[in-house]
Amino acid sequence: MPDSGEEMSLTVEEAASLRQGFTYCPRCRAEMVNREVYGRVRRVCSDPECRFVQFIDPKVTAAVMAEKDGRILMVRRTMDPERGKWCFPGGFMEIGETPQQTAVRECREESGYEVDLIRLIDVFYYEDYRGSGVLIMYKGKVVGGQPATGDDTDQVGLFGLDDLPEIAFDTNRQAIALWREGKLCDD
Ligand SMILES: [Zn+2]
Repeated sequence: MPDSGEEMSLTVEEAASLRQGFTYCPRCRAEMVNREVYGRVRRVCSDPECRFVQFIDPKVTAAVMAEKDGRILMVRRTMDPERGKWCFPGGFMEIGETPQQTAVRECREESGYEVDLIRLIDVFYYEDYRGSGVLIMYKGKVVGGQPATGDDTDQVGLFGLDDLPEIAFDTNRQAIALWREGKLCDD
């Protein structure tokens, strides 16, 4: 992987991060190389004048665990990762919206349901082959809408703790563990 001609050993986090690295500098179009700067190996412009550094950050996502008639709303994924498994409606934040708006929008797009958010459940960190991310998970309740699938879901379901489908993502399994422990029953 090192392409700067130096011996370099990468941590798992560095290797994962560098997979999203630029090939060419977006500022001066010179080749980007792996080089240690600011305490870890990063993608750095090879031009000695430019020296642009690419900081590869976690993506931010928001999701909602929404209750309806004592059951919890989930959607089945048609996209990788975890295609065919079920997760809470959620997705990537867009610039110009709050995480609360992201959770409500994604729920509408993926499930057809309108939700009101009640409170924050927790903030989770995750890593997968695409990189790393932060998931902000809200508790909510369904207040309207009809079940309807979206671009990346093909089923909408309501589940109890005793009849859960196969769950996608560690973050979702962690949220379900909190639910199972009775830690979400304060509202
Ligand atoms: Zn450059």
